[in-house]
Amino acid sequence: MHIQNIVFIVLFLAALSLFTYNLLRIRTYLMLGRSENRFSDVGKRVWKVLGIGIGQAKIFRDPVAGLMHAMIFWGFLVLITAVLEAFIQGVYSGFSLGMLGAVSQVFFASQDIFGSLVILSVLYALFRRYVLQPKRLKGDGNTNADATFILCLIMGVMLSMFGVNATKMAVHPEYASYYKAHFIASHLTGLFAGNEITFYNIFWWGHIIIILTFMNYLPYSKHFHIVTSLPNVYLSKIGPQTLDTEEIDFEKEEVFLGAGDIEQLTWKEMFDGYACTECGRCTSVCPANLTGKPLSPRKIIMDIRERTSEKAPLLVGKQEIPADIESKKLVSEHYITDAELWACTSCMACVQECPVNIEHVNPIVDMRRFLVQSESRFPDELLTVFGNMENNGAPWAYPQSDRLKWTEGLEAKVPVAAEKQEFDVLYWVGCAGAFDARYQNVSRSVAQLLDKAHVNYAILGTEEKCNGDSARRLGNEFLAQTLIKENVETMKKYKFSKILVSCPHCLQTIGNEYKEFGGNYEVVHHSEFIGELVNSKKIEIDDTKKIDKKITYHDSCYLGRYNDIYEEPRDLIKQVNNGELEEMKRTKDRGLCCGAGGGRMWMEEKIGKKVNIERTEDALETNPDVISTACPFCMTMLTDGVKEKGKAEEVKVKDFAELVLESSK
Ligand code: SF4
Ligand code: SF4
Repeated sequence: MHIQNIVFIVLFLAALSLFTYNLLRIRTYLMLGRSENRFSDVGKRVWKVLGIGIGQAKIFRDPVAGLMHAMIFWGFLVLITAVLEAFIQGVYSGFSLGMLGAVSQVFFASQDIFGSLVILSVLYALFRRYVLQPKRLKGDGNTNADATFILCLIMGVMLSMFGVNATKMAVHPEYASYYKAHFIASHLTGLFAGNEITFYNIFWWGHIIIILTFMNYLPYSKHFHIVTSLPNVYLSKIGPQTLDTEEIDFEKEEVFLGAGDIEQLTWKEMFDGYACTECGRCTSVCPANLTGKPLSPRKIIMDIRERTSEKAPLLVGKQEIPADIESKKLVSEHYITDAELWACTSCMACVQECPVNIEHVNPIVDMRRFLVQSESRFPDELLTVFGNMENNGAPWAYPQSDRLKWTEGLEAKVPVAAEKQEFDVLYWVGCAGAFDARYQNVSRSVAQLLDKAHVNYAILGTEEKCNGDSARRLGNEFLAQTLIKENVETMKKYKFSKILVSCPHCLQTIGNEYKEFGGNYEVVHHSEFIGELVNSKKIEIDDTKKIDKKITYHDSCYLGRYNDIYEEPRDLIKQVNNGELEEMKRTKDRGLCCGAGGGRMWMEEKIGKKVNIERTEDALETNPDVISTACPFCMTMLTDGVKEKGKAEEVKVKDFAELVLESSK
């Protein structure tokens, strides 16, 4: 063994030890968080890693930046062969991939191709950062220094690899015939004529030192995502985006009151902080941020990481935490303010866009829980809303006994569960369907369509209570779970096979979140249900009654991004409108929120432009006669928006169920 092998081994072991120490250090920080199971469904998780991680599926939602990033990522994967070769040579200098014979040429050629692509991508990344300066790379304390340093290190790894490949013929002449596959690096050989071995050693050591520096710089850099992004994708939620909740045991003395600081977050919420690339894709689509509110989902995640770095070492070391650090808290003016938290509409656009599957809404709601349940600190108007939910079982101030008023005037009596006991479909009307003067017409339309199709259904009537969605998203988990448990108990009394809902918030909560509370139901949205009735001709469309207007459709976040229902409402609209539908510029999974989700429906909007106006403008750009929706909250927000834009006479906001009823036989 030569002296240089010994130096390499010492350096390598030191670097590896330091890197392992840093990984274990961060693991101890994560262990401070609340527990959460993210290890089930191994097959689905691996599939996600293959698609989103290795396949870079979400990265390409921004095609140009996506291609640049994917080239660097895939390049790194392919170039592992060069790194491995160099590391083995560190121990045994006589090693070369050329020993693999003709096969080695595949590796050598791929090193030249992908090495060149990585260099071009790094140059473009620098050009983009310094010359194009896209908006989403700025703000939230994001600086160019870290990214530039990392890009320079990547460039150094590539250039030193090309240097080694251009000069290695002098060191390993026995593999010269295979080295011809270095069809790009071989053009550089002439530059080092006469001094190939000296330059080979310089490049080889440069390559090793840059890689070991890179490896140990990562845990201190935002580019730690190079290590954490694939695990983060693996650990991300499987199935619908539900909130991470645990059933509250009201008998227990200590219950979770929300996250005011990092140790009350789950370990996964803390891990998200280490996976963030600071790319700003989340913030660039956030309706709150776009309309001038103080919320930036990227900042939320960066703040979690920063606060973890500040406080976790002290907690792990069991040191007394200095008063100035303790008082800073995660939810405070030092990190995340109340105004940021209350601005969120829980629209999930940030989660949809994040290339490493970070879940912003969970920690936001955990922090809202802290504000509501631990600090009793929330906007004044919510006091009335919480009171109404507690006393009337609905956010509105109407008594429970008024829940059947919407049925008045209908030709056929709407069947009630208490009278029928057993039926096929439970039509969950929802609070808006029962009380909101405009949305009552949608409930009436659905009931008439069910009658036309002879569906054996019933409603809960005065027994129905708010599904708990708004209370939960507003941080009042006690209230949410009280409502949920009461509803589950009520439904246990009746026999039915599925629940039909008109409100996507009911769909999400009853369909995806009641399971934790013993309410495991098949829940369908009326877009799917009516769609089936129309397709099976149980409801027939009358050609003479077709709408024949310019219709655009607004995607509800809770129907689309949460439950992946995009096409059913569109299909129905096209069926009743001669196949015509105008799409807005932001549509489907890129659609903009109406501004009412996350309990924002019940809050005043005092900062910036109103989200519903921003969305209404999207709709009006299509010059429509009708804006169609599939959600009571969206209907309210867009109706208000159209009024505020002075277009109420020309443009009508309608649920597609109303359109189907209008054009049915
Ligand atoms: S859920 Fe929507 S409103 Fe909330 S942070 Fe994400 S993008 Fe912004
Ligand atoms: S949270 Fe995701 S989308 Fe937002 S900056 Fe971080 S990596 Fe990018």
